Amino acid sequence: MYDVIVIGAGPAGLTAGIDAARSGLRTSIIEGEMPGGRAVKAPVIENFPGFPEGITGADLVSRMAEQTKKFGVEMRFPEKVIALDLSGKTKIVSTKKANIKLVHSSSPWVCMVRSFWFLGKPNF
Ligand SMILES: Cc1cc2nc3c(=O)[nH]c(=O)nc-3n(C[C@H](O)[C@H](O)[C@H](O)COP(=O)(O)OP(=O)(O)OC[C@H]3O[C@@H](n4cnc5c(N)ncnc54)[C@H](O)[C@@H]3O)c2cc1C
Repeated sequence: MYDVIVIGAGPAGLTAGIDAARSGLRTSIIEGEMPGGRAVKAPVIENFPGFPEGITGADLVSRMAEQTKKFGVEMRFPEKVIALDLSGKTKIVSTKKANIKLVHSSSPWVCMVRSFWFLGKPNF
């Protein structure tokens, strides 16, 4: 049972996971391939503050993934999410491996895949 499930461990998902876990929420990130998303392919990222010499995408997302560990985020990969059941009080996230995540209805809930993200509120 988690308070927050983040779908996708690209930069957006890793950031969401870090923030949720830092807030004391039980957080899981489910990634269908490898953590890092498209940023892994960036040879150099020069528009991320704090790295004046630039940093490779792989290094940057590796640091982000390390930060999720620090705050106790459970990272599951490779485990593609194939279905969401958001209708009931308990939200169900199903993965390709048929694992099911149950999220308590009264908790904040986040789902994030690429540009789609939904803030978890009952009956959205
Ligand atoms: C070659 C290259 C160079 C780039 N250079 C820069 C740069 O210099 N500066 C910059 O700001 N941006 C750059 N970008 C863009 C940057 O990589 C993206 O903006 C960023 O990765 C978007 O992050 P995201 O988390 O929103 O999505 P993504 O990186 O796309 O991450 C989404 C994640 O969700 C996972 N996922 C998708 N569906 C599911 C599912 N059903 N179940 C589980 N997981 C799922 C995917 O596997 C992926 O890991 C570059 C991109 C590329 C390809």
